[in-house]
Order: sequence, then C-alpha cells, then structure tokens
Amino acid sequence: MTSASRPLLPLLDPMRSARPQAPRDPRPGLSGVTRSELERWVEGLGEPRYRARQVLDAMWRNLAASAEDLRTLPAALRGQVEQRYRVDTIAATELQASDGGLTEKALHRLSDGALIESVLMHYPARPGQRERHTLCISSQAGCAVGCPFCATGELGFERDLETAEILDQVRGAARRLAADGKRLTNVVFMGMGEPLLNLDRVLASVEALADPQRFGLGARHITVSTSGVVPGIRRLTALGPQFTLAVSLHAARDPLRDVLVPLNRRWPVAEVVDAAREHATATGRRVSYEVTLISGVNDTDVDARALADLLRGDLAHVNLIPMNPVAHTPWEASPMDRIERFADVLLDAGIATTIRRNRGQEIGAACGQLAAARAGEPAAPAVARRRERIVAESAVALRGERSHAAAPAGVGE
Ligand code: SAH
Ligand code: SF4
Repeated sequence: MTSASRPLLPLLDPMRSARPQAPRDPRPGLSGVTRSELERWVEGLGEPRYRARQVLDAMWRNLAASAEDLRTLPAALRGQVEQRYRVDTIAATELQASDGGLTEKALHRLSDGALIESVLMHYPARPGQRERHTLCISSQAGCAVGCPFCATGELGFERDLETAEILDQVRGAARRLAADGKRLTNVVFMGMGEPLLNLDRVLASVEALADPQRFGLGARHITVSTSGVVPGIRRLTALGPQFTLAVSLHAARDPLRDVLVPLNRRWPVAEVVDAAREHATATGRRVSYEVTLISGVNDTDVDARALADLLRGDLAHVNLIPMNPVAHTPWEASPMDRIERFADVLLDAGIATTIRRNRGQEIGAACGQLAAARAGEPAAPAVARRRERIVAESAVALRGERSHAAAPAGVGE
C-alpha cells in the first residue's frame, strides 16, 4: 500500500530493524519480464499472443499495481498471471516530502522485508528549460563498497535487487506523478547500491525503461552512476548504450581515494578514468564525474588542481556536491566559498563544472544516503570508534601515503 500521508516512522522504527527475514516470494516480478517471454507464456496457456501486449500495456501504460488492474484480461487469465507473477514487487511504500514539496523520499519494503529507497525530485520550469521530474533509484539493498561518507556503505551489503524490484520503483513514482497529470522525465541510478555490481539486472532495467513498448523513456534521460568498477565500465563501453555514465570520483589522488572509495584499492583512479575516457570516446557522450566535497578532506586547492590535471582535455563534466552529513562520520560539507573556489580551478582548466545543491537535506534524502535512520541509531561507542578510524585513515591519506588495507570483500573481479 502506498500512502503519502503516513509518516516514515513505522518502517524507520529501530525496533523493526531487527526485522524477521520473510521468505522471498518465489514468483518473478512481472515488470522484469520481456515481451517475448510473456508471449511464450500466454501461448503456452493456449491464449492468443496479443494478451502479452495487453499485459505490457497494463503494466507500463496504466502502471498496474495489482492483478485487478489488468482490466483488459479475462478474469481467469488475470488469476493465472497472479499465480505465476508478482504484479508489484514492492510490498509497502512510505513517503515523506521536503523542500516545500520539491523532494519526495520513498522508503520501500520488498517481499522478503529488505528496505530500499528512491527519491523523486521536481525541478520547476525555467526559461529555456521545461519542468523535470527526476527519480533516483536503488540497484541493491545495501552496498559492499563501503565509502565512509555514505550511509548505505555503512550498512553493508544485503542483496542484489531483481530487475522488477528496480523497475517497480520507477513504476511507483510514475504512478504518483500520473495522479497529478505529470510524467517522469529522468531516471538516475544513484540510490542504494553499486549498479555495476548488479550489472545484468541494471542493463535489463535500462532496456525496459528505454523500450518504447514498455516505459519509453529516452536512454539519454537515464544516468548510471558507479564508484569505479572498471570491468563493468568496459562492458558498458562494449555494449555502446546511450545512457549517461556518471563516475563517483571524489578524489584524484590514490591515497585519499583509497579511503573515500575503498574500491580504489582494487581499481585505482587512473584506471577508472582511462576506462571512462574510452567510454566517452566510444559513445561520443561526455562522462559525468561526481565529487562529494568534504570540508578539510578533499576540497583543498591541491585536490582541485590534481583533478584538473587528471581531466584536462577530456569529454567530461564535473558535478560538485556538498557532502550531506551522516551520523557515523565527523565530516561536514565544504563551505560554499570553498566549493566555488574548487569549481573555479576546474573551470580555469577548461573543464565543464556545476555545483549541485543538495536536495532534501532535512530528511536525509540525498540519493545514496537514506539508510542510516532506518538501521536505527548505532551505539555511541561504535560511532566514536568509527569516527576515530576515519579521521586516522584520512590523516594518513592527506600526508600522501597509501593505505595497505585490502579492497572490500565481495565486489567481484
Ligand atoms: N554506488 C554508486 C551509486 C549510488 S551512490 C556510486 O557511488 O556512484 C550515488 C552518489 O551519492 C555517489 O556519487 C555518492 O558518492 C553520493 N553520496 C553518497 N553519500 C553521500 C553524502 N553523504 N553526501 C553527498 N553525496 C553522497
Ligand atoms: Fe556504495 Fe555508492 Fe555509497 Fe559508495 S557511495 S558505499 S559505492 S552506494
């Protein structure tokens, strides 16, 4: 059930964080099924092929939330669909608005109890630009990469999302927008999880979103963000898709990036940027680099110049994002004058740069960092130990020394 009026607290209650793991519903999610798979299935039931098209229309044009919404199907077939598939893989959603209604955070519970998030951001029309409605979605429950400034990283990895679980976040947001006569214009994979570590499902989702017979969103309106999974970037380049690749860089120097993005210990920054550069050359589309600026950590002139040297002459665009504070770190956002100075260094080097204002800060609704509240307050000594470790590690990095810690486990080859 979706309700805009209910508060987030029931799902966020720390008592519920020790939630019993429900057995996973074995029925595949219907939104993850392709037209040819559906055709085979309806024909196997002795039904005409066009029934598959009717199912797809109900799912993608009418954004069906339950089997009753498959209105063009005969009742018996509706029952068979429900026996075989889950029409919506999201069991419950709670919404909370902020920014005067411009940002809407959604907390979703999946059938096995896993909690994920999506964030819908409304951008009113401006001269020369139509209004936009951008949805930030999750690709995994939790994340194995463990970036210390990210609340999802702090939670650790729970599981990959199924294709339908990714897509049903989009269908849910589109349904809410449709109730106001509006349409979703952009989708960004910047919620929980590392999309390139769940690449097959992410690619299947992008295909469904871009397919004119399903969601029909132009691939150019889709952005996939990665913390730097080099083999994944190479695979994307080989496939030549037209969506935007965003790379979360955060630092151009290896010692610091080892701390901020632990995956850097496996794929160092030069390799990440090489792979992104090849992607830009092969697709002719510029890569977007994300840099979350943390006061006194990665926002110095030395860092700005290192980044300028790394990206000079590339088909690139840099997004500077003030860090959203999270409970388990002592870190804060860089002050705006520092961010502007950082931007100037990049602009002087001829690199397209924008500063992104964080949305929904008061409800912690920046994509990729909604999870801390849901896990409940960590114990004070645990937070203190974590803060100490982060400060010590970053101090070593700021002296220019590389850490000898291993890359995060379970991130694949
Ligand atoms: N795992 C992928 C995509 C999800 S994170 C990735 O890291 O790219 C999406 C973005 O949110 C990343 O650029 C990440 O660095 C950023 N982010 C995470 N925590 C943040 C915080 N506390 N403040 C600002 N940005 C944050
Ligand atoms: Fe994972 Fe991205 Fe968060 Fe890093 S920033 S822990 S890669 S979700």
